[in-house]
Amino acid sequence: MSLLEASREQLRRIPFLSRRRLGHFIDGRVHDPVGGAYLPVVDPATELLIAEAADGSAADVDAAVASARATFESRSWKSLRPADREAMLYRLSELVAANGDELSALETLQGGKLREVARRIDVGGGAELVRYMAGWATKLEGQTLDNSISIPGPQWLTYTRREPVGVSAAIVPWNFPLAIALWKIAPALAAGCTVVLKPSEQTPLTALRLAELVMEAGFPGGAVNVVTGTGATAGAALAAHPGIAKVSFTGSTATGKRVGHAAVDNMTRFTLELGGKSPAIVLEDADLDQVAQGICTGIFFHQGQVCTASSRLLVQRPVYGRLLDKLARAARSMRIGSGFDPQTELGPLVSRRHFDRVMDYIDEARAEGATVVTGGRRALEGGWFVEPTIFADAPARAAVVREEVFGPVLVATPFDEVDEAVERANDTPYGLAASVWTRSLSAAHRIVPRLQAGTVWVNAHNVLDNALPLGGYKQSGTGRDLGRAAVEGFTELKSVCMAV
Ligand code: NAD
Repeated sequence: MSLLEASREQLRRIPFLSRRRLGHFIDGRVHDPVGGAYLPVVDPATELLIAEAADGSAADVDAAVASARATFESRSWKSLRPADREAMLYRLSELVAANGDELSALETLQGGKLREVARRIDVGGGAELVRYMAGWATKLEGQTLDNSISIPGPQWLTYTRREPVGVSAAIVPWNFPLAIALWKIAPALAAGCTVVLKPSEQTPLTALRLAELVMEAGFPGGAVNVVTGTGATAGAALAAHPGIAKVSFTGSTATGKRVGHAAVDNMTRFTLELGGKSPAIVLEDADLDQVAQGICTGIFFHQGQVCTASSRLLVQRPVYGRLLDKLARAARSMRIGSGFDPQTELGPLVSRRHFDRVMDYIDEARAEGATVVTGGRRALEGGWFVEPTIFADAPARAAVVREEVFGPVLVATPFDEVDEAVERANDTPYGLAASVWTRSLSAAHRIVPRLQAGTVWVNAHNVLDNALPLGGYKQSGTGRDLGRAAVEGFTELKSVCMAV
């Protein structure tokens, strides 16, 4: 079956897409955009038009925020017990899993993601995350504190409470549209907040379907609203909206800064999960087969469109050549094709624009004198496929070494001493993640505290857990997704001091 036939076949099977023109989801129902405009949603493997989604305006954002606010302030929402929210989140987790076939097909159609990855990570991991966050709804707590107040007279009772921060905005990228939407929505609902979700204009489909599932789980209409459209219009209006108490954003560092600036004007709280240029440090005693496998996944998983991708490889010189050979062999053997083909290991990039950007980095790296170990060309015809690419000998100042490519492009550099590796690893404005590969636990323990990164893996890369907070040092962001930190991020901490 050709790529086009595979996509057309999937398209026919999804009832949700029979509508073709998809409005916003506000206050529990579909709304046509105020301006009447729609944006195309395109399959990056074939350039087939899959659907059109509303091109949201500031007026649409106003309507969504008003719905979220009315729900948040309603008596029925306030009277929900934590156990009620827990039960509804639990149902949502089951619904995400039960609708996994459809949700994963939508992910593959709109983003080119391998269907198996969508099933396992976006749907499977997403459903588990919702279940994990469901548990937090009944476990948020304040503290009773001993105090030293010296004002004579009464006794003093001092304690803290965690209260929902209020109407929250979730602005999410295209690389894990369903999973990252859940990373925001689930802790927000667990904490007692209501939400306006703005998916990427390139991948709005699973967010819209998810909003229906949220209602099916028992949440009221205004608990999760979805406004689709561009970042410049709908996203910017949401980040700057005075009715938003907290914005949780995942995307590029450049956009994150804009969101942060807009939020500060209203003193809106914000969490920013931004870009990365994550190093992997390989010591000479490492198990090279394990490293080759781990780094291949680290950089080529989801075509390298992963914020924590192991895009900078630093290898101790005695094993540099051997490791590069292993990596090149593994990269050349990867099967490139449609995400719907279970044999495929590398799918298309998300869009033509992103493909052009990645190819520009590759061309520039060549022009700057980097050696292509393997790859470096377009693969297949018709969609936005790039060969898994490895560069060696790139100058330290080259853009491909310093900037986030967000594609299947690895840059390898040798080092002699561990100090040099740590210095290079930290020599970046980013600080999202890093990995260390060695058989020596002592060496790993010594390196971990020296790395300026929100997550450090040892003998692994890109391994996430719903309980482990994820976020960045430096320009990779502020605040944390996942774990207890995420749900606490949707709360205000109130101190109570009572004269008894
Ligand atoms: P992006 O910054 O272009 O867009 C992200 C979201 O912001 C989209 O919904 C977009 O429409 C919206 N947006 C754009 N301009 C806006 C504005 N002015 N105001 C408000 N919203 C706006 O990012 P992308 O290309 O969709 O995603 C890729 C980026 O996301 C990469 O840099 C990647 O590293 C990052 N990312 C980070 C994490 C993490 O956990 N740190 C996870 C996944 C992706």
